[in-house]
Amino acid sequence: MKKIGCIGLGIMGSRMALNLQKAGYPLLIYNRTKEKAQDLISNGATWVNTPKEIGEQADTVITMLSTPQAVKEVATGENGLLHGMKKNSLWINSSTVNPSFTKEMETVAKSYQIRYLDAPVAGTKGPAEKGELVFLIGGDLENVKEATPLFEILGKKTLHLGGIGKGATMKMLINQLLAQSMAAFAETLVMGEAMGLEKEILFNVLLNTPVVAPIVTAIRPKIENEDYEANFPLKWIQKDLHLSAISAYEYGIATPSLNTTKEIFAQAKQYGFGDQDFTAVYKYINLKK
Ligand code: NAP
Repeated sequence: MKKIGCIGLGIMGSRMALNLQKAGYPLLIYNRTKEKAQDLISNGATWVNTPKEIGEQADTVITMLSTPQAVKEVATGENGLLHGMKKNSLWINSSTVNPSFTKEMETVAKSYQIRYLDAPVAGTKGPAEKGELVFLIGGDLENVKEATPLFEILGKKTLHLGGIGKGATMKMLINQLLAQSMAAFAETLVMGEAMGLEKEILFNVLLNTPVVAPIVTAIRPKIENEDYEANFPLKWIQKDLHLSAISAYEYGIATPSLNTTKEIFAQAKQYGFGDQDFTAVYKYINLKK
């Protein structure tokens, strides 16, 4: 069986690695903070001290890191992944990054004769745990075919959307809609409550209209139970909106609605909600004057 390297064992990466482990793949793992790897190590995964060493030993490497900066550091920094990876091996980057950055990574990988897939995911902590992610892929068909057995363990659907950058593009578009739907609903809820309607009534009525995004049904318990433990950290949706804004600039598109939403999440982060779930934007909008 192929040896799989997993780098980035946060909310998503740890669950993805565990599913590969359960499927019987020998795992080589690395995370900046080693404590997060303990469960996987106890279950038999091999801890490796640097991304470079993962590259030297693994046949295929999956990165699930927070930001483009983190991906660049892990891939090209001192003891970086690309300095170690065997020629012609495959790097699957599932971190949410912007299309121009993912293209840059492919070019760098190519200079090391490494194959690259732009492979972000839709779905949060629960789907990652259940192996029900949706892979949004950009890259060569041959590489997609090679990675498909892994995608089938980690996800319920793989969408091959075109060349490098198309996966990142679709992921960004999904998250900008998610953020805008969430901010719009949170604001509506706050306004409805201020005007004297109960939260429960607002949910019951609004969710039965076609104007509310279906995602609101899924996040309803977070708000009703005031459970803001992060499935999807608010700071990462703010990052994704920032990446969308970069792309909008690169393509010369005006995105006023996106930018307003981006700043709502930026302010929520400034007010200390960054490490909470993105649904905590409701709490931010609801802050008393
Ligand atoms: P997370 O729990 O915060 O994990 C982030 C990972 O990146 C951790 O392993 C972290 O290491 C690592 N990291 C950050 N900066 C680093 C650096 N400079 N060098 C090395 N490692 C670094 O985030 P997550 O929720 O798993 O998200 C991971 C990626 O998936 C993000 O791009 C996010 O946008 C995307 N995503 C998330 C969700 C979701 O619902 N959570 C859904 C789809 C996509 P440490 O453990 O040392 O901090």
